[in-house]
Amino acid sequence: MKIGLRGGHSPRCKGAMGILDEQIEVRKIYNEMVPLLQAAGHTIIHCNSDADTISGELSEGTNKANSNNCDIYVTIHMNASGGIGNGTEVWMYNNANSTMNGIASRICQNFAAKGFQNRGVKYNTAYHDLNASIMPAMIVETLFCDNQYDVDLYKRFGINSTARFIANAIDAKVSLTTSDNSIPPEQNSSKVEMRVQKGTDDQRFYIEDAENDYVRLKNKKTGLYLDVPAADAKNDAVLQLYEKNNTDAQLWKIIYKSHGYAQYALLEPKLAPDKYASVENNGIDEGAKLKLWDDLKNSKQKFWTKQANDGTYVFVHVYSLKAITAV
Ligand SMILES: [Zn+2]
Repeated sequence: MKIGLRGGHSPRCKGAMGILDEQIEVRKIYNEMVPLLQAAGHTIIHCNSDADTISGELSEGTNKANSNNCDIYVTIHMNASGGIGNGTEVWMYNNANSTMNGIASRICQNFAAKGFQNRGVKYNTAYHDLNASIMPAMIVETLFCDNQYDVDLYKRFGINSTARFIANAIDAKVSLTTSDNSIPPEQNSSKVEMRVQKGTDDQRFYIEDAENDYVRLKNKKTGLYLDVPAADAKNDAVLQLYEKNNTDAQLWKIIYKSHGYAQYALLEPKLAPDKYASVENNGIDEGAKLKLWDDLKNSKQKFWTKQANDGTYVFVHVYSLKAITAV
């Protein structure tokens, strides 16, 4: 295909400014996308602009795509919403082109498979990129540059991988596997241990709502999820952190119980509703493992949950006062 590609905004007419500078980051993603798509046999028409007005940069982009008779026009962006929103969405003029529908939904899915919220494919006839281009066009809002969760994920996977999430959706010949080693295979999983509380990101977990009363527990430092290895929820199974995989092995119910004025929590895996996360040897040893075990009705399975100022939670074992930690 002849692809008109626009890497967001002009350096003289910036886009969104959040934790990341949209214009700078998107241009990096663009620079990685171009050789990936060329290697897959596509012709890339560079539709970037150095204009100093919004209308100038928009028109320059669509003019380049139109005058080169591109087959499709793809413009890359980062969203912003005051830090609140997160995730990936793709905008198109309408749903008339099945090739574009496929690309757009695959982009959302590729990002979602790595933990970004799938905000889906949306339609709008008012956007310049969509109505001034004579070929099917899409605006890819990769992530929210002012949202810490999205930015953490983006930094974890890196620029080359992010470029691949989009390029692979355009052409499956582009591998999703990065070549820059920003995700060494061993980082797809990580151990958890009980460690002395430090207040650091390796001890902080996002509680993400999943189906029904279940949640996923996402470690802030690694971006990985509390997981029952091989979905084998037997007694003595040593819990780990693992890349999000949308299986029941990463679904947990946090069951709060009263203890005087305070509340402690039990962590129950969806795979084994009769078992709870259990601290080996009551956490006496630094580095004690976190395992599954039948209901012991004792302190090995009880945690205080403490919310940190970034919205994450620390799970502190009631007996040892050590925290669940990614290692
Ligand atoms: Zn933008």
